[in-house]
Amino acid sequence: MAKIGSVGTSVGRKALLLGSGELGKEVAIELQRLGVEVVACDKYAGAPAMQVAHRSYVFDMLDGEKLREIVHIEKPDHIIPEIEAIATPMLVELEKEGYNVTPTARAAFLTMNREGIRRLAAEELGLPTSPYRFASNYDEFKAAIEEIGLPVVVKPVMSSSGHGQSTVRKAEDIEGAWREAQEGGRAGAGRVIVEGFVDFDYEITLLTVRSVSGTVFCPPIGHIQVNGDYRYSWQPQAMTPAALAKAQEVAAAITGALGGYGIFGVELFIKGDEVIFSEVSPRPHDTGMVTMISQELSEFALHARALLGLPVPEVRFLAPSASRAIVVEGDTKEVIFGNLEEVLAAPATQLRIFGKPEVKGHRRMGVILASDETVEAARAKAEKAYEALEVTVK
Ligand code: AMP
Repeated sequence: MAKIGSVGTSVGRKALLLGSGELGKEVAIELQRLGVEVVACDKYAGAPAMQVAHRSYVFDMLDGEKLREIVHIEKPDHIIPEIEAIATPMLVELEKEGYNVTPTARAAFLTMNREGIRRLAAEELGLPTSPYRFASNYDEFKAAIEEIGLPVVVKPVMSSSGHGQSTVRKAEDIEGAWREAQEGGRAGAGRVIVEGFVDFDYEITLLTVRSVSGTVFCPPIGHIQVNGDYRYSWQPQAMTPAALAKAQEVAAAITGALGGYGIFGVELFIKGDEVIFSEVSPRPHDTGMVTMISQELSEFALHARALLGLPVPEVRFLAPSASRAIVVEGDTKEVIFGNLEEVLAAPATQLRIFGKPEVKGHRRMGVILASDETVEAARAKAEKAYEALEVTVK
């Protein structure tokens, strides 16, 4: 029998959130709606999820010993990785000690490194992917490009949101791409993946929920990335029945192999009826923020329900919707979001300001959400609201 006791008592449930960004903040809110105590962690103070959590810790989550120390102090019922940059081998150990890691420690471990998840998908499960090679030094890198043939996409194996990623179209770009990958990786210089460029018609995130009820899918989310970082997403993305069926098959296979309960963001490239697996996050996905307006239960609510061992019998879709990321550039602690009366003038329009304490370079600071009769109308409405937004950086 599933049960949740009073928050903050010996019968309550406690979640340790590893990563306190905008996605973690929404997960924290959804857990609290179900009476769960939330302890948020990140490497800097005042991170978005910390602002709504019961308590927080500031430490480098890539430091395995420190991570173990915090887990032993808090003894959480659920350890919930919300980012990739975590000492995942320690999560594997903690799971062996009996701790519950969402969705599984192995899923966090494999998806932290592009090599782990790519080899599982392509080599173990036989899922269609772009052609790929791994390279640890410049000679291997050049040989890999030679074998695959231009154009290629180059990414550090430990990276996300487009950091260190570039596309090589001509021989002159090869050296620059290597340098960029060496500078942009999460763990500093190191191994890269070289992928054949996929000339897709469109790309989707297929949010897939594994719970005690089985596996269910959200309607597909279409999105546009700029330099590997998401800017717009919408739901549903129109697909042929054959492509959708294939996409669900691929998503079921990869999430089934990772196991556990929670939501997964399965990223797929679509060309005609062909579906090519790109990668998967065993947690809510940034492009899935659109579900905060498009679904009865957002991806964050679904994640909370599933990981707590509660049923997710279906996903209820409300209306065609779109999201527009607000990326701010500058070097400041003082950002003003202005002209909001016009931004929010149209019905079925929402604004989320993440509350990040500073901007250095460029940073996603908020999102605009809109619903309408069609995806096209929702996208136009979100874009109009975005154009009206006046961001001032002090
Ligand atoms: P990733 O960080 O792997 O999700 O890549 C970010 C974005 O870069 C993707 O969403 C695609 O838009 C683009 N991209 C990544 N890999 C490829 C590829 N092999 N071919 C074409 N575009 C790609």
